[in-house]
Amino acid sequence: MKIPQEIQSILEKIQKEGFEAYIVGGSVRDFLLEKKPKDWDITTNAKPEEIQKIFTKSFYNNTFGTVTVINKDADDKSLKNIEITTYRIDTGYSDRRHPDEVKFTPNLKEDLARRDFTINAMALQVKNEKQKAKSSEMLKVKNYEIVDLFGGQEDLKKKLIKAVGEAEKRFSEDALRMLRAVRFSAQLGFEIEKKTFQAMQKNSELLKFVSQERIRDEFQRIILSDRAYEGVELLRTSGLLSYIIPELEQGIGVAQNKHHIYTIYEHCALSLRYCPSKKLEVRLASLFHDIAKPQTKAGTGPDSTFYNHDYVGAKFARKILSRLKFSNKVVDKVALLVKNHMFYYNVDEVSEAGIRRLIKRVGKDNLKDLMDLRIADRLGSGVPKAKPYKLRHLEYLIEKVSRDPISAKMLMINGQDIMKILKAKPGPKIGAILKVLLSEIIENPKNNTKEYLDKRTKELYELSPEEIRNSEKIIEEKKEEEDMEDKKKFWVK
Ligand code: ATP
Ligand code: MG
Repeated sequence: MKIPQEIQSILEKIQKEGFEAYIVGGSVRDFLLEKKPKDWDITTNAKPEEIQKIFTKSFYNNTFGTVTVINKDADDKSLKNIEITTYRIDTGYSDRRHPDEVKFTPNLKEDLARRDFTINAMALQVKNEKQKAKSSEMLKVKNYEIVDLFGGQEDLKKKLIKAVGEAEKRFSEDALRMLRAVRFSAQLGFEIEKKTFQAMQKNSELLKFVSQERIRDEFQRIILSDRAYEGVELLRTSGLLSYIIPELEQGIGVAQNKHHIYTIYEHCALSLRYCPSKKLEVRLASLFHDIAKPQTKAGTGPDSTFYNHDYVGAKFARKILSRLKFSNKVVDKVALLVKNHMFYYNVDEVSEAGIRRLIKRVGKDNLKDLMDLRIADRLGSGVPKAKPYKLRHLEYLIEKVSRDPISAKMLMINGQDIMKILKAKPGPKIGAILKVLLSEIIENPKNNTKEYLDKRTKELYELSPEEIRNSEKIIEEKKEEEDMEDKKKFWVK
């Protein structure tokens, strides 16, 4: 692990003007862990105007007192924008979110003391040429020094997330830090130090002062980490979950039925644990797919049912993710996956038309994700083994069936053709005919020929608009019925 030349040269330039300059915060932590930092942060006693004088290609963000040095030519993303921040102290947090005022300080120690965790509160000084020359006389001497006032290196060794100073005070200044503790724990596989964790349990309620956007950013990083399950468990045991997704807690201690050994909450969390996908949407869907089970539970004991929990669950997921200000794209995708997670599939039992309907319903691009959700669901249920051969067979069928018509685009006839055949003007009747044709072809793709569709078009045109719509409805209803049958057979029920 090396400190990039770009960073060394920035440090040198600042030092040459007579100021102090250190690498600081998360980048020192990652460097010592031999991980590539997401970005390199630099701190100095030079004031923003003084930094700008040194770096002509920089911009100054007045609210945060940070100067960004722009490095357009850098190939490495972490070196494109390098932030240099003047030593500062935060003075008071009357809204519990933002420091009332940022005050510069000439003292590195004070800058380190305002930082959240000991492993994030270290500064790294690259030795100058003279010092380097000296140290290279002795083999294997590092060319840097660490300023570590709060035992950060020790905690890195012990794999501990520990607040700088008095944990309770630090969390009441900025409640987001509690969520950051969980996030770092999930990302790094570190434990949260006991006193720090107790302070979280005591102060979790303060999270309600934090904006949903900031909560979302940390929550997302927890979900995307390698220890997403452990992260969610920490959210629960610290009490933070009540202020992020109280809906998940409704399932705590709620038993399911004879098909399940886990409670609803346990199953949701374990599905996330075993989710084979690294995509945010699939992971969220794994966590949320059964979120409406507590509300849709009917009966008690081994024969309980959860009818419509998929539909209600999709609504819940929408509500939760919108509240957390996730993008519409994420909200829509998770809702789609949750809504369709009960899709029935058994080798030899489901017709090719059934697969075509599934593809029409969820879209070809979402099928892989829906299958990953199924794998997560099965592995998280603890009872049935995942049955990869079934899913492989389904994949094969999807491949096969994908060549058949699933959207109106794939019909051998389009709106223009229909108007030509009928010598008719555009209107709702044309659209209605197209819909009926598509429904028929999904059931029987062999009929997707110009001749057949030509003939059917003429037949349908004889019907009233009402009758056309009805004939589509009849097909749709048949599908609905089949889908309901599918669900009854499904192992979760
Ligand atoms: P990463 O960039 O990998 O997410 P990081 O530790 O660099 O991790 P940033 O959010 O980039 O995290 O913040 C940089 C540094 O600023 C942190 O290491 C920490 O020292 C300090 N910091 C960030 N947010 C807070 C906060 N809410 N309270 C106190 N210090 C903070
Ligand atoms: Mg960072």
